[in-house]
Amino acid sequence: MKHYPVFLNVEGRRIVLSGGGDAALAKLRLLLKTEARITVFANDPTPEIARWHEEGRLTLVVRPVEPGDALCTALFYAANEDDAEDARVAAIARAEGALVNIVDNLEDSQFITPAIVDRDPVTVAIGTEGAAPVLARSIKRGLEDNLSPLLGTLARIGKAFRPEVEALPHGRKRREFWAEYYGRAGPAALAEGGENAVPAALRALLDRYLVAEAKAGRVDFVGAGPGDPELLTLKARRALDEADVVIHDRLVTPELLELARREALIIDAGKEGFGPSTPQAEIDAMIVDHALRGAHVVRLKAGDPTVFGRLDEEIEAVDAAGLDWGIVPGITAASAAVAAIGQSLTKRNRNSEVRFLTGHDMKGFAEQEWRALARPGAVAAIYMGKKSARFIQGRLLMHGADPATPITAIENASRPTQRIVSTRLSEMSEALSDAGLTGPALTFLGLAPRAALAAADEIEQKELAL
Ligand code: SAH
Repeated sequence: MKHYPVFLNVEGRRIVLSGGGDAALAKLRLLLKTEARITVFANDPTPEIARWHEEGRLTLVVRPVEPGDALCTALFYAANEDDAEDARVAAIARAEGALVNIVDNLEDSQFITPAIVDRDPVTVAIGTEGAAPVLARSIKRGLEDNLSPLLGTLARIGKAFRPEVEALPHGRKRREFWAEYYGRAGPAALAEGGENAVPAALRALLDRYLVAEAKAGRVDFVGAGPGDPELLTLKARRALDEADVVIHDRLVTPELLELARREALIIDAGKEGFGPSTPQAEIDAMIVDHALRGAHVVRLKAGDPTVFGRLDEEIEAVDAAGLDWGIVPGITAASAAVAAIGQSLTKRNRNSEVRFLTGHDMKGFAEQEWRALARPGAVAAIYMGKKSARFIQGRLLMHGADPATPITAIENASRPTQRIVSTRLSEMSEALSDAGLTGPALTFLGLAPRAALAAADEIEQKELAL
């Protein structure tokens, strides 16, 4: 991040702009929304600028900027649409201690003006450090569609009411009060009775919250999916949005944690120190402890919490403490991995069942029903199978599996670092170790990438034709 976003208080401060053409006009339209005192220097200002001067909305000085003009100035804009003149006035302003922006000159500007969504006092600023103004504009449009034009009114009234809400205890109750105001009570009052009805609605809502009992904590076991934040369910997003405490495992990516509420306490239950093997009992105790203190705990697990996630032990602990809980399913690694290779987990005339296996369990390499897995057409999704590749390969061959059975490993499924390694059972352990997989990987027995299959078919057809 080269440009750090801040909201500058410009109330009553001086902002100077040099220039009187279209570029100046565009900047002034934004600046006039602020409570700053604006001075424009221009030899030949557009009629609008002259009118704004007459209306007292800014001060127009009909001459070029001279030394001394930028003293005590918070922000200075060079908008002359003339490189030499911009450079001259920018040098003066910089020497006089103003922060300088040269319009359409990122390189020589000390700050840039973001694209703005204005729901005053709610303001959203969007910047791309000059990389993609088109993108900034499309994000702005998206936000504008999503943020009701009434949001500003609600926020203004809500802000004035803040001191009264001090009567509610800090934390969850207060947050829920505001969420209900902005989400339901406020918009409803505005729609029914206009602006004047809103303060009374706030009052009634507050009275209700003041007598409501403190809520007990709860635990949601939430599937974080395979890593791509867009593969989170809406329910998972909402849970992250509302969580007081997020306890996550090692495979949950930072991009996903970004989505948690800013004030939420985020606990890594898979980190070194705790170790990849934070004792399960310790995790159970942590979850229960926070929830008993009234927190909404989100236990965030990679993929789907019901797949190789030791979910039951955690549920039992939460149940034993008499706490409410729920499960939000997620997209498991097998689903993301099979999508990555353009295949189906089941297919008519090939396999009507698919097994989810773990490469190792608590005791070491896991034994499976090898005979069934060795049958032609068998499909299995192998979790945690990197270290056990040689063991699995050996067991399958020993039970009569065809050495040409396709094996495909998908590393970092759904993430930008996704990699696909396609091989045969006879080369399984060698190919996987040669690939040097470092991220989480899901290995399929009996599935090859669709593209590879098509290519192989083509070769076979050609060979037949010969
Ligand atoms: N509950 C998880 C699985 C936890 S076990 C789920 O439903 O996906 C951890 C194993 O899941 C890893 O060793 C790896 O085999 C697999 N895994 C998790 N995320 C993955 C990803 N993005 N790509 C490939 N495999 C993944």
